Amino acid sequence: MGLLSFFQKLLGGGPSIAGGSPHSKSGNGKGDMQLACAECKKTFVFEHGEQRFYEQRGLTPPKRCTNCRRKRGRRRR
Ligand SMILES: [Zn+2]
Repeated sequence: MGLLSFFQKLLGGGPSIAGGSPHSKSGNGKGDMQLACAECKKTFVFEHGEQRFYEQRGLTPPKRCTNCRRKRGRRRR
């Protein structure tokens, strides 16, 4: 192994990373939840990492998709 390829690995290099998260390749059977948005009725993914984040803070799972949440947050004064 050359030094160059070593550094490329260190930097997480390689064209395979570009475009999309590397985790979601094997499907979403890894604890991700599908929730229905209370506002636009669309289903959105409540990721496993997010679930833990909410759990740790004693928060209830979001009822709205990120889109609707963003809209609401902007309107708040
Ligand atoms: Zn929504």
